[in-house]
Amino acid sequence: MREIDDLSRAIAGLALCGLGQTAVNPVLTSFQYCRDEYQAHVRGKCPALSCKPLIDFEINTACKLCRACFVVCPTGAVKLRAGQEGRVFVDRELCSKCWACYETCPFGLIKVTSEEYPWLRK
Ligand code: SF4
Ligand code: SF4
Repeated sequence: MREIDDLSRAIAGLALCGLGQTAVNPVLTSFQYCRDEYQAHVRGKCPALSCKPLIDFEINTACKLCRACFVVCPTGAVKLRAGQEGRVFVDRELCSKCWACYETCPFGLIKVTSEEYPWLRK
């Protein structure tokens, strides 16, 4: 982030025309007002839950097994855990983060999460 900040200020200071001098304003302004968001994303977390690579869908253990999410999932990512009848989970490898299951569950039992440092997760 420091490098982007420095580079933006250098471009603004060295550009010969007004377009170049102001081209970096969106970057500098968003750094000023949304620095927490940038830092969270560097740590792998999207607080607004809008970056697909940084979110996960989790099914609550209170799942009623109505199977509505199974039907709407376009990738077959909602599965029953083998050997644990009644335990439903989302296969992260298959999930396309389309939100269909979240919007469909009549009981609101699907949660969307975004954790810091997801690459450290086992
Ligand atoms: S977000 Fe979409 S792809 Fe992922 S489990 Fe839900 S319905 Fe399936
Ligand atoms: S729609 Fe909700 S209650 Fe039904 S199977 Fe999916 S998570 Fe469980």
